[in-house]
Amino acid sequence: MNHSLLELPFEQTALEPYISAETISYHYGKHHAGYVNKLNALIEGTEYEDKPLEHIIKYARDAIYNNAAQIYNHDFYWKGLNNKPTAPSVELLGLIERDFGSMKEFEDAFLAAGASLFGSGWVWLTISNNNMLEIKMTSNADTPIRHGDIPLLTCDVWEHAYYIDYRNGRAAYLSNWWKLVNWSFVSNNLSEFLNDPIAGYNQSCNDLTSVCEYVDFMQKNEHTPS
Ligand code: FE
Repeated sequence: MNHSLLELPFEQTALEPYISAETISYHYGKHHAGYVNKLNALIEGTEYEDKPLEHIIKYARDAIYNNAAQIYNHDFYWKGLNNKPTAPSVELLGLIERDFGSMKEFEDAFLAAGASLFGSGWVWLTISNNNMLEIKMTSNADTPIRHGDIPLLTCDVWEHAYYIDYRNGRAAYLSNWWKLVNWSFVSNNLSEFLNDPIAGYNQSCNDLTSVCEYVDFMQKNEHTPS
């Protein structure tokens, strides 16, 4: 299976002045596209050749894992951005207020996590299997779905995401990135998970491991498997 590069959900100029078309031409056109091309070359003739991205993320290691995870992470990043004003759903806002106090406190905590992440990586809003929202940081290519967390939003804090526009000013990038968040995407991710948590939890699983994790999930959540 040849993996393909996500079609950007907006024009390359759409995020200006916060993220320039030049940044997107490198970030999307060189880095993101590079991960897709490298993964396709790496999996040729291996057990991963015909496997979906989520399966590769779950089971592969080293370069195959890194390139697959970076494709997933970048797809998620681009889908989470928008040049049009959007607002979080009532459902999402309620959980943010429950778990962080207020939208402003969530923003401050999320951006502080992004500023503090050492080296290259990603900041995420995830929902755990006990329905708690959490801010998670992953290093390099690592991705929450490898660890059973459901991502709702991510910000790329690799230098390639901001160096053209902000040089070493990661905090300025983060505060402007916040203005571009596509809250409809985040809200939809939450409602999809709440409507079908098992499908969300098992998005990266489709074999015996998934059955064990499913049972573990159901027990933790005190559901009765049907
Ligand atoms: Fe990136």
